[in-house]
Amino acid sequence: MQKLKSLPELQKFVKEQRGLGKSISFVPTMGALHEGHLELARVGLQKTDICIPYIFINPKQFAPTEDLASYPKTLEEDLQKLSSVNVNAVYLPRMEDVYPDGFVTSVKLGGVALPLEGEHRPHFFEGVATVVAKMLLQCMPDIALFGEKDYQQLMVIKKMVNDLNIPVEIMGVPTVRDFQGLALSSRNAYLNNDELGIARQINKLLSRMGQELRGGASIAEIESRAHKSLLDAGFDKVDYITIRDAQTLLPPDKNTTSLRALMAAWLGKARLIDNIPI
Ligand code: AMP
Repeated sequence: MQKLKSLPELQKFVKEQRGLGKSISFVPTMGALHEGHLELARVGLQKTDICIPYIFINPKQFAPTEDLASYPKTLEEDLQKLSSVNVNAVYLPRMEDVYPDGFVTSVKLGGVALPLEGEHRPHFFEGVATVVAKMLLQCMPDIALFGEKDYQQLMVIKKMVNDLNIPVEIMGVPTVRDFQGLALSSRNAYLNNDELGIARQINKLLSRMGQELRGGASIAEIESRAHKSLLDAGFDKVDYITIRDAQTLLPPDKNTTSLRALMAAWLGKARLIDNIPI
């Protein structure tokens, strides 16, 4: 596995591989890698000849009050894990490769970026979209892989790439969960044992929302019951737990063809998000 430690190194590697006729997939990450990230890399390796994950903790997607300083950093373990799934190279950009002095440009979003996470973390998607747009243009892969774990992010990136004609296919990968259904997340590292037990209720609650809907309950009723159940389970604060149109992420209407249950809630130091199709 080659370590590409700067933008020129990435571009030289990509040029060589393109010269050999190889197709390339790209896996954006912020490190602290787990099986969820590795699954994206595995799918990338199935779809293309070469898979390049990158690790970059993007300061622009954290608000000043958020966990940028304490975000878990495990570079040596990350490199071992990536090498164990046989990715060809990993891109480790320097800050100046991403945000050179005087950097002022950003991607302004609307539509699917506005509800849910957009309401609760107003700075977040602009930071994500800007870094992802830059990274896609730096690498110019055939495919970039994103987890359904961050479903709204996946939808935002798909829309951005389509609107800006960035010639990359965005592919979603189903959420990888632990043995009790908890979605793997780098932020699970913030949870103690009791909190882990509480967090493992999330998946069951989301599934129950689907069952209740199929049983004929109203969405308002289901959402308020689920909100209360999260607090009863031990969550400190619920940002949202809701059933939305899976395309627009707005409340379902007569044009809705598929639904998604999505949640975000605080448990101790961790803000956990999850979602499932229902
Ligand atoms: P992060 O490092 O948390 O920014 O995540 C990098 C990528 O990994 C994003 O596309 C996430 O959606 C994806 N990801 C994170 N956790 C999971 C998971 N449990 N299953 C599948 N993909 C995931």
